[in-house]
Amino acid sequence: MTNKYMYFIANWKMFGNLNSLNSLHNVNSFFKNFKKKKLIKIIYCPPNTLIRPMSKKLKTSHIEVGAQNCHENESFGPFTGSVNSLMLKNVGAKFVIIGHSENRQAGENNQLINLKIKSALKAGLKIIFCIGETLKEKRKKQTKKILAKQILLGLNKIKDKKNILIAYEPVWSIGTGMIPKSNELFNTVDFIKKKTNNQKVLYGGSVNPKNIHLLKSIVNIDGYLVGGSSQDPKKFIDIIKKTYN
Ligand code: PEP
Repeated sequence: MTNKYMYFIANWKMFGNLNSLNSLHNVNSFFKNFKKKKLIKIIYCPPNTLIRPMSKKLKTSHIEVGAQNCHENESFGPFTGSVNSLMLKNVGAKFVIIGHSENRQAGENNQLINLKIKSALKAGLKIIFCIGETLKEKRKKQTKKILAKQILLGLNKIKDKKNILIAYEPVWSIGTGMIPKSNELFNTVDFIKKKTNNQKVLYGGSVNPKNIHLLKSIVNIDGYLVGGSSQDPKKFIDIIKKTYN
């Protein structure tokens, strides 16, 4: 059983429409009655189309809303299809995920991620900064080297890191059902903490109600970034409950 302050972040990815917001009712009432609620922070990151209605729905709750990415430009500009961090803040986002591997795979590099983090911090958003190695890199035993580079370049020239959470998400674990071995995960999280002067480090990658008992025994993890399982409120609630059982 843990008595630690933990983050539970729901990444809905490109799933959900206005009807999906009805599922928040369950999570909201669970949270209201949860004995350990002072120990947890729940953050929902829906697609941009749902940020405003979701923020309104959660107005009286302590559940917060975040976005899944942002443009690096601080002001308005001719960037068709993009949204910057001030625009996200304007519709109710308090957090933004930056550096998710699905966006790194689509071409975002560490330098661009660094610009995004800086502009989002300037806008007053809190950052969920994702890092992680691919399977190929893991097999070549390059995990630490890759993570160190992502941290060094991603956080380059950012002095004040109090509004940054790090999410360690091994790429090979996202959406695959595979999670790292417990001792490996403990050591990697420890490495990230040492490299970042003790930032909070969350784990993400196939977190579900079945493997949470294993994950929660890794004592240096400060929370979870949950993709697939967060779209089902029952599973998401179960993950939170089991973390504290
Ligand atoms: C994610 O997309 O951040 C994630 C961790 O996904 P999943 O839980 O589905 O592996």
